[in-house]
Amino acid sequence: MPLRVTGACRRSGLLRLLALALLVHGGPLLEAGEIRIAFPDRPGEMEILDTFMLGATEYIKAADLARAFAIGSYVNRDVDKSILYFRDSEVKITAFSSFVVVDDRAFQMTQPSYFDGESYYVPALSFFNILAQTVLPGSRYDKARRVFVGPSARGSFNIHGATVDYKQNGTLIRVKTSQQFDIRNIVRYITDNGWLVVQVPGGRVDTLALSRSVLGGIIRGVKGRQLQNSAEIRFRLTDRVGLPEVYQVNRGAELHIALRNPVRNGNDRAAEIRKQWYLDTIVLDPGHGGMDGGTVGRDGLKEKTVTLDIARRLGRLIKQKTDMRVIYTRDEDVFVPLFQRTRIANEAGGKIFISIHANGVKNRAAQGFETWLLAPANTPEAIETARRENSVIALEESNHPYAEFSDESLILSTMAHSAWMRESEALGSIILEKFKSRLDSPSRGLKQADFLVLIGAAMPNILVEIGFLSNLQEEKKLGQSKYRQKIALGLLDAILEFKQTYEGALSADL
Ligand SMILES: [Zn+2]
Repeated sequence: MPLRVTGACRRSGLLRLLALALLVHGGPLLEAGEIRIAFPDRPGEMEILDTFMLGATEYIKAADLARAFAIGSYVNRDVDKSILYFRDSEVKITAFSSFVVVDDRAFQMTQPSYFDGESYYVPALSFFNILAQTVLPGSRYDKARRVFVGPSARGSFNIHGATVDYKQNGTLIRVKTSQQFDIRNIVRYITDNGWLVVQVPGGRVDTLALSRSVLGGIIRGVKGRQLQNSAEIRFRLTDRVGLPEVYQVNRGAELHIALRNPVRNGNDRAAEIRKQWYLDTIVLDPGHGGMDGGTVGRDGLKEKTVTLDIARRLGRLIKQKTDMRVIYTRDEDVFVPLFQRTRIANEAGGKIFISIHANGVKNRAAQGFETWLLAPANTPEAIETARRENSVIALEESNHPYAEFSDESLILSTMAHSAWMRESEALGSIILEKFKSRLDSPSRGLKQADFLVLIGAAMPNILVEIGFLSNLQEEKKLGQSKYRQKIALGLLDAILEFKQTYEGALSADL
């Protein structure tokens, strides 16, 4: 196509551009050949793009491309730009610039664009490349056949729309996905002006579907954009929250982004936070109860009885010796499901959660106490595996229904655990130390249930196995009120030391 100036030359600036064009390129575009565009969803259908040579580089017309993809385009003569509208993304081409801006991200082409006073031209290969990285994920250029294969309408995206759910203690964003991502590589941060940014390596986001997401609550808006090797999802937040937990469920069908409820802003924020995290409420969780007797000793001593008695003793000690509040998940011989125990703890505003259990195994020689750190499970599959195999994999010496959970407690626990893991670990170690100095029984150490979810308490939490009812000697000791009192005293020591350390660290932070 020859260079045309007359009809389109409406602005004096154009002459400058054309002069620049001649300077940069040394000559006008020459018609060359054609590149075809194929669509995986429409076999047999092809669109044809005329190509133009400028020096050694093959160019295509931006408007032809828009027509081929049936998308909108617009030429803004005031700023010498052409814009292509791919779904809700804008691809901006500036006259004689090698930079193409997709939404607000700049990409550089190997050669500058060209403007002949009417149409915008871009170097074909580098422009296809940018489209593949951004608005047309999954598309590719077949050099040999000279065909640009566009993405299929759905298949190429693996991140789709989102919905927002409200939970008792936070907000859960469910993003529809169609691929399992490596969760460890997901980047998330919150910008100063209130955007939560989540970048998913390997993600190809359907920005249109995402823009139609069902939002609400503290999520006021959502935006998606395609980065070179990852998808970026941005959520506009109306309130301050901490960094969310991100994990995938249902075999990669959903990406969950869990946000805990914001901390209320008081007059004195530091004091407010200090008060909020002040360790003033201890939740004691005596294992089992009612129809669930737990493990039973050779002489018939039941776990549910021992754990309740020790919890009560500990509760009395705390009330006598401290100004902390005590909440029991059960204070009588009743059955309380695990999720209910979590709920009690969270609703009471608990600051430490201690679950008390006794062990029972086939090996009658096994004895001693141990503490269990309850690691979050990353996916329901992991939990499912845990539920199926926990007796062999993680807890071969125990037989508690650890893996019991509800969807709700899963969400709560995933949010809560990583935040409290370090504190829980510290608490577990202190308990072992205190037991060592008070109990005539070996320490079996701090253990971690790799992918079990027991509780979703949003607070430091630990599970204590006080001894083995399957061991005759220990069963005898655990039957004695003196020994139980020692255990309660050991736990009290541990709580006090933990409280001191933790609150000290907290004041230092603020
Ligand atoms: Zn138990």
